[in-house]
Amino acid sequence: MRVAVIGAGMAGLLAAIELRRHGLEPVVFEKADRLGGTWRDNTYPGLSCDVPAHSYTFSFARNPDWTRHYAGGAEIRSYFERVAHQFDVERDINYSSEVTSLVWRGDRWKLTVNETKVEEFAVVIAATGVLHHPNIPTFDGLNTFEGDVFHSARWNHDVAFDGKRVGVIGTGSTAVQITSALVNRVDEFTLFQRSAQWVLPAPNPEFSDDERAAFRADPDGHEEFVRELALTMFQRTSSAVIEPDSIEYQKIAALCRRNLATVRNDDLRARLTPDHEPMCRRLIVAADFYECIQQPNANLVTSAIARFEPAGIRTTDGELHELDVAVLATGFRPDRFIRPTRVIGVDEVDLDDVWTPAPIAYLSVMVPGFPNLFLLNGPNGPIGNFSLIEIAERQMAYCMQLISRVASHEITAIEPTLNATQEFEQERRAAATSTIWMSGCSSWYLDATGIPASWTFSYERFVDEMHQPRPDAFVSH
Ligand code: NAP
Repeated sequence: MRVAVIGAGMAGLLAAIELRRHGLEPVVFEKADRLGGTWRDNTYPGLSCDVPAHSYTFSFARNPDWTRHYAGGAEIRSYFERVAHQFDVERDINYSSEVTSLVWRGDRWKLTVNETKVEEFAVVIAATGVLHHPNIPTFDGLNTFEGDVFHSARWNHDVAFDGKRVGVIGTGSTAVQITSALVNRVDEFTLFQRSAQWVLPAPNPEFSDDERAAFRADPDGHEEFVRELALTMFQRTSSAVIEPDSIEYQKIAALCRRNLATVRNDDLRARLTPDHEPMCRRLIVAADFYECIQQPNANLVTSAIARFEPAGIRTTDGELHELDVAVLATGFRPDRFIRPTRVIGVDEVDLDDVWTPAPIAYLSVMVPGFPNLFLLNGPNGPIGNFSLIEIAERQMAYCMQLISRVASHEITAIEPTLNATQEFEQERRAAATSTIWMSGCSSWYLDATGIPASWTFSYERFVDEMHQPRPDAFVSH
């Protein structure tokens, strides 16, 4: 049976490894010329993962050698390259191969690569990432700017920063990490803030040689350490977001508020104070953001951006902020998922239409009318400060149970029923109203209808649901 995997990032590698483990031959299509997904695309200074490194690791490829509690981007990218090599899935990857369309014909997916080559597959796994398509706002005059300008996920490494006047637009996780990395290297640093964010203080200690040697020497002890870390982290975060009255939430919120109180200047502290509750938006995890933004060469601009001009950015208060370099740390388009790939299912139904105004999926992994199409880290999954690796692993184990039935020729095709999908979606939306994400803020968590595009139930429910597909939720033929 032919199985296509779209994307050679974390989830695509996982899919390829799991398919091979089940005796299937994956064909991985990767539009870029290197694997690694988000860890290939993002190379900005200060890049790190705010999920503890030992949790951001495949369960079948633990890494006792992580150098820090929160690993840096380059270390994570090398980890994925090493795992691909170790599990011998590099040979499955077709690079520079963009899947431009997927059309269901009879009992097969016709998959078009680079708009020309058509191949047929019984099963397709979309591992296309959540935060992949850069969000580039249409600023007036952007093209007239005479300095260098680029999105954070398209970092221009030819640009030197020392002694320059640098502006960063945004205050998300990315902008905050860039701030910490650049403020002491540049002449003048300006952060353009549209909304203030809550920042959870988190030191990032190194693992000593002794600690790493101990992890290596005792794999069982290391596994126990990883399990404990994951359990406390995921359960704590998931309780906090779905139950704002919980002790877990109150503790996290108090830490954020105490952190903000360390800002010495009253005016700066007022401007850094969010107008929403902690965790309404994705929490920023950073050890030294407030220290950095208080440096003498750092400037926080809270007037809105009016336009770019040849010399810099003009804000609506009339001031011109002269810049040599402008970084757009303006986030991603999380609603795009598999798109712009054109996906046509049963009866010529276009996935774009099904996903207008907002994407839906049964348990986040399958869409009715699109048989044998499996989504990893798809719409409305548990994305709030959890390890996407653990999520993808559980989703893949779930999907594998369905894929195995197709592979064994027990069935030809399987899809969730419309009924099961609608029931799940209604329940998900109803549960959303009491989450912290809907306590009054705008964020990339909210879909076009204002509902969090996330898992609005407990972590335990996710684990439970992913344990085994419910037969009555699917139709097969
Ligand atoms: P983001 O959280 O979406 O932040 C984008 C920022 O750009 C926001 O501050 C936003 O302002 C601002 N912005 C967007 N359009 C603008 C405009 N037209 N004018 C002015 N400001 C504008 O994006 P991100 O920081 O790249 O992070 C995205 C996600 O990536 C994170 O939430 C996280 O899940 C992930 N990430 C994780 C890590 C990690 O350590 N694991 C690191 C980086 C990123 P508003 O706030 O007003 O909308």
